[in-house]
Amino acid sequence: MKQDTTVVHSGRDPQRFDGVVNVPAYRASTVTFPTVADLKRKHAIRFETTYYGRYGTPTTAALEEAVAALEGATHCAATSSGMGAVAGALLTFLKQGDHLLMVDTVYWPTRKFCDVFLKNFGVETTYYDPLIGAGIAALIRPNTKIVYCESPGSHTFQVQDIPAIAGEAHAKGALVLLDNTWASPLFFEPFSKGVDVSIQAATKYIVGHSDAMLGTISVRQRDWFLAIKDTLGSFGYATGSEEAFLGLRGLRTLSARLERHQRSALAVATWLQSQPEVERVLYPALPDDPGHALWTRDFTGASGLFGVLLKAGTEEQVAHMLDHMTLFAMGYSWGGYESLVIPTRGAIERTATQWTHQGPSLRLHIGLEDPADLIADLRAGLDRLGEKALDQ
Ligand SMILES: *Cc1c(COP(=O)(O)O)cnc(C)c1O
Repeated sequence: MKQDTTVVHSGRDPQRFDGVVNVPAYRASTVTFPTVADLKRKHAIRFETTYYGRYGTPTTAALEEAVAALEGATHCAATSSGMGAVAGALLTFLKQGDHLLMVDTVYWPTRKFCDVFLKNFGVETTYYDPLIGAGIAALIRPNTKIVYCESPGSHTFQVQDIPAIAGEAHAKGALVLLDNTWASPLFFEPFSKGVDVSIQAATKYIVGHSDAMLGTISVRQRDWFLAIKDTLGSFGYATGSEEAFLGLRGLRTLSARLERHQRSALAVATWLQSQPEVERVLYPALPDDPGHALWTRDFTGASGLFGVLLKAGTEEQVAHMLDHMTLFAMGYSWGGYESLVIPTRGAIERTATQWTHQGPSLRLHIGLEDPADLIADLRAGLDRLGEKALDQ
């Protein structure tokens, strides 16, 4: 099956539900068993059946099946948020005394999780340059358990050479975890590129409508899946069936939405590049982006999220620009149908590399509006940036 077909058909079996197209949202804590023998038998397979609400329901299982099929995994575990997936995956494979190699451009809450929680649990984290490629070999120690990647990286959008990194990691016995959220399950096929564990903040493009929190962890080994489920259950992560329902509902249109996000993002990014106030647009789909060659080799598309470096502007000028946008709303998260913008200067924390851009920077999510309207909103915003300059 082609991926666009899998998007529509995976994790779905209408005949199981009286012919109803969508898997219903099962609200469940208690699941009952007719006999003691049945109860015992189900306990042994509790991560792969309907046993107790915390471990899942038929709705969460349907989401897991669909995402596994799309990512090319055999198993997937749903979590109550993307951060739940990040933490759950790391906690499954790390123990006291282990060493973790973490990409310097990682999503900031993941960085904080490593620097605070993993540190307290006796796991050491070393940050590495996202552009390190096969050079990662020099950083791998005998106790390095995981090489964690996120590509393109948060805010600065550097593309990583995942196959090169995975080659070295595997040669030295380390696992490769990837936060694959930017690409969604459609634009980067993790397992054929050497990834062992693929993480999605499903809150973003899978849900796609800014109305639910969800995460997923996909793997190709059943024993890893069982270990992940055990971690999630032990920490008490219960994924809501209503949320899983919304995730499945969003997933069905993922391909159509992403095609449009990509087309509009490319149009807006290309336009922005030609504006005098803009120093550079950070979007690997642009032909002159430093990550373009790797992106072309490894990705099958680009989503709607990118960075913009402005040449100049004080915080006050940037606020004057952003406070009066009419279509771009300000807010965290992304991947919904609507366009968003946030200032990123100051939010970019790096320790293994240096981020030297002096001017302000923005992160844009290009939604499903007409790109001409988005461009008009941005042009008026860039005009305001200048107005404030004249005031001074
Ligand atoms: C949003 C995000 C997360 C966390 O997802 P939540 O659902 O908000 O917890 C993790 N990684 C990346 C790259 C993200 O953008």
